[in-house]
Amino acid sequence: MSVRSSHDSVAGQAPAIPVAAPVLRAQDVRREYTVGGEPVRAVRGVSLDVRAGEWVAIVGPSGCGKSTLLNLLGAIDRPTSGSITIAGRDVARMDDAEATRYRLTGIGFVFQRFYLMPTLPAAENVELPMVEAKHPRTRVERVARVLELLRYVGLEARGDHRPFQLSGGEQQRVAIARALANEPALLLADEPTGELDARTGTEMIALFDRLNRDGTTIVVVTHDEEMARAARRVVHMRDGAIVDDVVVRPMTGATGGAASDASGPAS
Ligand code: ADP
Repeated sequence: MSVRSSHDSVAGQAPAIPVAAPVLRAQDVRREYTVGGEPVRAVRGVSLDVRAGEWVAIVGPSGCGKSTLLNLLGAIDRPTSGSITIAGRDVARMDDAEATRYRLTGIGFVFQRFYLMPTLPAAENVELPMVEAKHPRTRVERVARVLELLRYVGLEARGDHRPFQLSGGEQQRVAIARALANEPALLLADEPTGELDARTGTEMIALFDRLNRDGTTIVVVTHDEEMARAARRVVHMRDGAIVDDVVVRPMTGATGGAASDASGPAS
């Protein structure tokens, strides 16, 4: 049975204790496309704060703008208007070089279809963002970090396997390890269980839960009701806007201390 405490993050309401500055702050974000001369308003004025240690699921019917919003948060796309600040960086106004660097170091992105490099073994897939980001780690340090990450996702014995030698669930675990390589402030995931069978999906949700308990801030777009139930906060979108925002469970993660609910479990 989930604990509901919707007072924890209601916009505009004064918090009972000092809380951590948001890792992510989106203000009146809009994204319009023009299709055949007609405007398509995919995201229509979204404002959203996410604090360190939160796990937010964005849900809503197909076509309501979830992926568009996530792509804006991940600097894969730019808003038509509005501002997006993540870990103190203005994502909406980055030039291409800054956006590339931000995608490598500021966030981790997990996709529905994994998008691993097919020719590289799992370990090198995980190492790649550290190499591309020119992270000041030595090769020895990178290899140690890769091992640590593969161990974390339960794949320490699969480092030399290429993606085609791994199951879907294993590939997604490698993708998560890769996303964490540069210690991002935020993990973004777009339908991470969408390609997995039910049992593997449940295991993936358990991994997200562990990540969050260990302090990773997560924003996930999902159709998966089990994933949405496991998240700590559920943001409902419809027609490009947020229509509901509910904290389902207070934070217990490692970084949640300063930002956690002062009143303890709600009744
Ligand atoms: P969801 O992820 O909730 O299924 P999307 O964010 O993919 O929704 O899409 C929101 C709306 O924006 C839809 O009407 C979709 O057709 C439209 N859309 C998304 N991407 C583009 C694009 N590149 N060009 C034109 N329209 C788009």
